[in-house]
Amino acid sequence: MRQSVPLHGGKVIFLDRDGTINREDGYITRAEQIRLYEGTVPALRILNEMGYRIVIVSNQAGVGKGLLKESELIEINNAMLGMLADSGVSIERIYYCPHHPEAVVPAYKKQCECRKPGTGMIVRAAHDLGVDVRGAYMIGDKLSDVELAYNFGGKGILVLTGYGTRELPLIDDRPYAPVYIGTDVLDAVNWIKGRH
Ligand SMILES: [Mg+2]
Repeated sequence: MRQSVPLHGGKVIFLDRDGTINREDGYITRAEQIRLYEGTVPALRILNEMGYRIVIVSNQAGVGKGLLKESELIEINNAMLGMLADSGVSIERIYYCPHHPEAVVPAYKKQCECRKPGTGMIVRAAHDLGVDVRGAYMIGDKLSDVELAYNFGGKGILVLTGYGTRELPLIDDRPYAPVYIGTDVLDAVNWIKGRH
């Protein structure tokens, strides 16, 4: 029998991690590499104040590629959550995809549904949080983040930090488009705020 999922309500917003919240630094394998952008804490505080439940969705193929262990990734994520909590920011969840089709660690080598732009992490968040994700914002620095938004019926925002500037010219060839292109996460969030 199919179980219905209770909706706890509230609005959710999805954010990418590397290149969006913290500086892009290749594969991040140590917590010391986490350096938040200047606009990150103010941006996330605004989202908290607006009543958004913030969910981070992050491809972490470095796990599958053997560059760090999944337990180390969890430590890094927890360190970041700690930094944000110390700054008064509340993050609901972090989801990550450790897989890659070319992974060298057999357990993580697969064509999964959770690797962005696949919607697996969004589907899990919708279930875990009991929220309707249709129309939700997804902020990220890669076109795969914007494509993810398109795939789940959300609204993609591209930021020009991280890979954003490099990704920007590639938009023309794609069937999807961001609803906004922000200089950084704070600019993106201020744009969202201005639309309320
Ligand atoms: Mg990114």
